[in-house]
Amino acid sequence: MSDADGAPKSYDPRDYPDMLARNPMAYAAMVRSVSAFGIYLIDPRGRIISWNKGAEQLTKIASDTIVGQPYAALFTGEARDQHVPDQLLGHAKYKAHIGDEQDRRRADGKTFRARFTLDVVHDANGEHTGFVEVIHDVTRARQREQDLVQLATRDNLTGLANRGYFTEQANSELARAARYHDPVSIVMVDIDHFKQVNDTYGHDVGDLALRYVADVLLRSVRKIDIVGRLGGEEFALVLPRAALQPATEMCERMRLAICAQPVPHPAAPFKLTASMGVASRSEDDESLDELLKFADNALYVAKRGGRNRVERWLA
Ligand code: GH3
Ligand code: MG
Ligand code: MG
Repeated sequence: MSDADGAPKSYDPRDYPDMLARNPMAYAAMVRSVSAFGIYLIDPRGRIISWNKGAEQLTKIASDTIVGQPYAALFTGEARDQHVPDQLLGHAKYKAHIGDEQDRRRADGKTFRARFTLDVVHDANGEHTGFVEVIHDVTRARQREQDLVQLATRDNLTGLANRGYFTEQANSELARAARYHDPVSIVMVDIDHFKQVNDTYGHDVGDLALRYVADVLLRSVRKIDIVGRLGGEEFALVLPRAALQPATEMCERMRLAICAQPVPHPAAPFKLTASMGVASRSEDDESLDELLKFADNALYVAKRGGRNRVERWLA
């Protein structure tokens, strides 16, 4: 089924099981021609000894520059510094097969996300003759996943947690606090006279003001706090490990920060104020809904009391 130089003329399925033994050149040509996956051999000392079309297309590294180079040449500097290539070969030799996902290097030094498998290769006598690695590019798939997570969890105007994600995060924080009998506080924030902002400056400037308040809240909180936009011009926070008094003090600082600087309207910067209601958990079994309701009651008192103030809910 092949001509004098070993290239296959046509494939006969009956030849296939013997193809490698009878016509290794044809087999090598087949592997070399695969473009969807990078497939290459590595010798027992860790040198790359073959390179196919897929590997070349994925990495943009030409066969003649990489064959003979160490396996480590395919990795980022950071991975090389941490001896990742040697560890992978060691694991593969020990386990016979490994697979994972990691950043690999292209010819221009940029990285791509690679899914790889690394298998040991033995000859007919069982002698270890090296490794075969198969890689493919999953950069776009991972990026799409991240975009979907962003879309599902974030409010797209402010980048804060949306209502669903805030609820999920807040519930897990409440469960954690209950386990350790830690204090935890919930805050509701509502911008004062926000309708006037929209009416005076237009909806786009209203949006700018919402982003301004979101930024101030984010800059004012600790790393462990959770900030979400529940909808409209209403925000909510979870302040882990903060009892009513420290939580109220944090809110007071946020309230002052909001009205300290003007909203950066390019033509006519203007100042905003916000009202806040704080509630702290007194019993381990109080639910998020109950705490949000208490914080909302306190917020209502703040609005009634003249706005631009923090009120707390005393259970
Ligand atoms: P109060 O001090 O009592 O809170 O008065 P307020 O004017 O802020 O009253 P309210 O909270 O009822 O007003 C909410 C306004 O927020 C109404 C709506 O037009 C506006 N709004 C809701 N969502 C958005 C948004 O995404 N962008 C903009 N620009 N405005 C929004
Ligand atoms: Mg409102
Ligand atoms: Mg309002």
